This record gives sequence, structure tokens and C-alpha cells, in this order.
Amino acid sequence: MRVRDLPLSAALVDHFESRGIEELYPPQAAAVEAGVTEGERLVAAVPTASGKTLIAELAMLTADGPGLYIVPLRALAREKYETFSELPGVSVGISTGDFDEAGEDLGENDVVVATSEKVDSAIRNGADWIADLACVVVDEVHLVGSEGRGPTLEVTLATLQRRAPGVCIVALSATVANPEEIADWLDAELIQSTWRPVDLRTGVYAEGSATFDDGTELAPTIAGDPEDATDAADALVSGAVDDGGQALAFVRSRREAETLAERLAGSGLGSAPDVASEIRDLDGSETGRRLADCVADGVAFHHAGLRSTHRIAVERAFRDRTLRVICATPTLAAGVNVPARRVVVRDQRRYTGSGMEWLPTLEVHQMCGRAGRPHLDPYGEAVLVGDASTRDELWERYVDADPERVESQLADPNALRTHVLSVVASEFAASREGILDVLDATFYAHGTPTRELGSVVDTAVADLVEMGMIAEGASLSATDLGDRVSKQYVTPETGARIVAGLRTAAGMDAPTALTALEIVCDTPDMQDTYLGNRERADMYDFARRHADEFTTGMNETADFEGWLTAVKTARVLHGWVEGASAADLVERFRIGPGDLESRIERAAWLLGAADAIAGAVEADADLPFRDLRARL
Ligand code: ADP
Repeated sequence: MRVRDLPLSAALVDHFESRGIEELYPPQAAAVEAGVTEGERLVAAVPTASGKTLIAELAMLTADGPGLYIVPLRALAREKYETFSELPGVSVGISTGDFDEAGEDLGENDVVVATSEKVDSAIRNGADWIADLACVVVDEVHLVGSEGRGPTLEVTLATLQRRAPGVCIVALSATVANPEEIADWLDAELIQSTWRPVDLRTGVYAEGSATFDDGTELAPTIAGDPEDATDAADALVSGAVDDGGQALAFVRSRREAETLAERLAGSGLGSAPDVASEIRDLDGSETGRRLADCVADGVAFHHAGLRSTHRIAVERAFRDRTLRVICATPTLAAGVNVPARRVVVRDQRRYTGSGMEWLPTLEVHQMCGRAGRPHLDPYGEAVLVGDASTRDELWERYVDADPERVESQLADPNALRTHVLSVVASEFAASREGILDVLDATFYAHGTPTRELGSVVDTAVADLVEMGMIAEGASLSATDLGDRVSKQYVTPETGARIVAGLRTAAGMDAPTALTALEIVCDTPDMQDTYLGNRERADMYDFARRHADEFTTGMNETADFEGWLTAVKTARVLHGWVEGASAADLVERFRIGPGDLESRIERAAWLLGAADAIAGAVEADADLPFRDLRARL
């Protein structure tokens, strides 16, 4: 099937052909046969690089009105925004928080790219453009199974269909164990395929050589100890680069990524002086300097502790082949498109709160799926580095195994409270039956008996009534507090923590900026900040000296460690508003530049929310939320 024969304008056909897209890939042809250009719903569960973007574009370009493309991460929103912006005659908007088009009404665009949180927030705030949507594409729909953002995604899809009845839905998924359940939930046709434009072989390395699932073997030239995972990873990465390819190496932690990159930088794998000076110019932090030093030798590290501008520079330089190697934490696999000839997964376990745990199969498959660049590599190779004792387990867990099932996480009481409040505050429902009716369109309801759903909803409503966020009369309605919490897009738990803080602060002699920061940093919506053992005593001492500025007594809290972490975040942000430099804070508090960046951004959001919530609470603590937000 040819692009030329599709119902697209000549300009669009030219656009695709100029990018080498003339004949459809098999999964794309299957999508057209299933009616993607005629408004049919579908779920495409196909491997990475098999051309999902074109399926999405076909759905949006042939729809009878505006399209929305929902992504899980901001970095992906930016990537898709850039791709769609190149389509001739198509206006594109983006909504991710840090990249909003100022003043422009999103509804005026043909295509809007947004994170699921932004779409949820737009629905709660009654945005008009939602009702006009003709087509919604959901990227990485398998993430409905993820603990953090899964519930938001499924409730968003349920409420979207209320606001825009009859909207066409196209969902793109990684290969998972139960795609038919997702398709059934969305009332969509399932396209399932294992076809890839570049062959992929996956194998396990142990004791000096790697064996692949196609029966082939590879014995890299190892300078060090063949039993040592790092020596083996070094040899596998270097071998790919020596053959003219690029390599991605996945390790378990930020520090490991940096250490491996620094080691590989000494192996003569390349050089990228221009990118190095670009990175050096972006900031003068210690991390930035070390990254630039590695990049100068053609190798980068990539993790969540980096500033987003550094991550973008690394991704771009890898895509245009200036950089030969990236050493990354697993987050890179779920993010932007950075394919490589060879993927080396050195670590398959990582620390969780309770020890070392194997990574989920799906996550490792996503890393491996990055191997093989269409049009550039003859094949892709993914190697899991093991030893004699783990070889069999690695085969069983990751090479031979199917990925996990996708399961709804909406039964989590925190998630359910959040969404029940939002359904009531947005006036989608004013009764228990109404709430159940809205939730009926979720993935959770799809697999759960109604009776069970009824009882968890009852619990959520009772909790929200107790928190003063829902009023129970002849019908259910949000209180002023509940309404503000929902519109500010914070969780009910965060709202309740802010209310408690405001009440305590109202009784304090002289609450300060630190008081306001402690309140917002101690909410579940603020990220945790790592508190090392060496720092602990110092932080304890700081907390004691400032005890009369805090709304939590040192011996009152049930989670002292968690609170001390919040104190650390508050202290870092206080330093920032008082004018300390990012480089100074990063060094003094041993956090990544990217951690500081994300804390500042979250604090700005939470301070705005706290200011709005203060208007609904009869406790005049007069805290400087607004002033702090401006100074951030
Ligand atoms: P993914 O499924 O991972 O989203 P993409 O849509 O990004 O994959 O496609 C991967 C690459 O394949 C892109 O470079 C894209 O331009 C190219 N591509 C997609 N469809 C075709 C096609 N039909 N013919 C040739 N190249 C294609």
C-alpha cells in the first residue's frame, strides 16, 4: 500500500515521500485496512520503530476536526510537537506546563500535543477545545498500568469521551501481554504485530561471549576480566563503535551512568568538541563540567539528575551521530527516540526501598527495542550482561519471557480519591450512581465487578466528606475547598496538608518564608529529595534551630524521616529565593542540577495552589506564598 493512494493532500504526500515514506510498513497498512483514515478506533500494539507516528498522523489528518495527541512525558511532547509542526498546512499547539504557547488558544490548532496531566487539568477547568475534538491519539497507552500516572490516563480517557462524545480514539502501545483487553476497553480494533523495519537479535553475555536468540554468537575483545560486568560492557560498547555503530549502555543508577561514561570516555571512542562546549556554556555546574568532559570524547551520561537542556543536547547529538555512546539509567528507554546499533544492559536489577529487585520484563524489552536504526543499521543487537550464575535467569526473564500484563492502578485509595473529587468538582456527577457511571468508562471498571467498584467509591466519598472537600446533601457537590483543590490540580492529601499547615501557622507567633516552604514541601505532590547519612545530622540541627518556624513539631510526626526530607527541600528552595546560585546549592546539598530545576518548578505550582487554598480556609496565617512564588 502506497502513501500516494491514501486520502491525503498532495502537499502531505510530498512531505512523507521526501522523508522516504512511500510504501506503508505492514502495521501501518493493517491500520489503514482497519479504518484509521475513516474514523475507526484502534489500538496498535507494535514494536518500537515500526512506524506508529504515521498511524497517529493518518488518524489526525483525516479526522473531521481537531486532534489531540496525549503523551506521558514532556520530553516526548516536545519531540512530537516538532515532528507534527513540519506537516504542511497543519497548525500545532503544545501544552506541557513549561512550554505553553503564550496567549494562544489551543482550540485554534489542528493538532494539540499535551501530557495526560495537562489534558486532565484542562477537562477539570472546563476548557472548551476538549468538546470540539474529533480524534484523540494516546501514545504509550500501556502506561495505564503504571502506578504514578496510570490512573490519570484512564480517568482522562473516560471523561474525555463524555466531553467529546463520539471522539475517535487511536491508542499506541508497546508489546504487552493483554493488548486485547485494552482494545476491548476502548471499543477499538486491535492491530498486533511483531514486525520491525530492522531485525533485532537479543542475547545474554556470560563468561566471555554472548549468545543470541537467533543462534548466533559474539565474542567481544575484552581487555580486562571477562567475568566482570563492567569490563564486558566496555568491550561490547567499544566493539559496536569500532564497527561504525552507536551504542546505548543501561545501568542501574545515576552514579553508575556517570562512572561508566567517564571510563568509556578514556577508550578513544570519538570526539564531539562542539557539543561539549555547548554543554559547558549551558551552565557551569560540576555535573555540567563532567558531562562536557565526557562528551568531548564522544560519550555522554543521561539521567534524571541532569538539567533538561543538557539531556536535550545529548539526545540531539546522539541522533545526529555526533555522539557515539550514551550511558543511561532505565528512564531513557521510556523516553525520546534515541535508537542505536547495539544496546547493552549491564544491570538488570536496581535498588528499591527493600533491596535489589529485577527490572520488569516490559522495561527491559523497551531498552532492547532501542536497538537498530532504520535506514542506518543492518540489524540491531541487544545484549544483557550476566555471568555463569545469572545466565539462565536472564534468558528466562527477559529473552524468552512475554512482557507483563497491563493492570489498572485506579483501586489505589489515593488515586481514587483524587479522581472522585475531580468528577464531582467538574460536575460530571452529583451522586454515587453518577460517579459510578463516569468511572464505568475506565479500564478499572472494565475488569472489576460493579459491586466492588461501588464499595471503593463509597470509601473515597466518605474520606472526601471528612476532609471537607465534598458536601453531602440531597446530592453530592464539591465544597469551595474541594473545588479549589481539584482546579489547582493537587491531590486531596496535598490539599489537606496545606489546610492543616495554614491552621497551625495561624496560631504561630511569626510564621516566615520557611514556614510556607515547609508546608508545600511536606505534601505528597512534592518530590522526595535524597537525604544522605552524612547530611542527616546537619539537617536535624537545622530543623531544631528553626523549630518555631515549622508547622510540624519534631516529635509529633509519624514519619520523621519523610519530614526531614521535606525540611531539606524547603531549605534548598529557601537558599534559592535568597539568591544562592544553582551551582552552589547543587554542591552544598548533593543534588543533581535537574533535581533543583524540578523542585523549583513544583514549588511554584504548589505555592500557587496553597495561595488559592488559603482563600477557602478560615485561618488567616498571612503566609508569603505569592511572594515566594514570584521570587522562585
Ligand atoms: P515508532 O513506532 O517507534 O513511533 P516511528 O514512527 O518514529 O516509530 O518510525 C521510526 C522511523 O521509521 C522514522 O524514522 C520514520 O520516518 C520511519 N518510517 C516510518 N514509516 C515508514 C515507512 N512506511 N517507510 C519508510 N520509513 C518509515
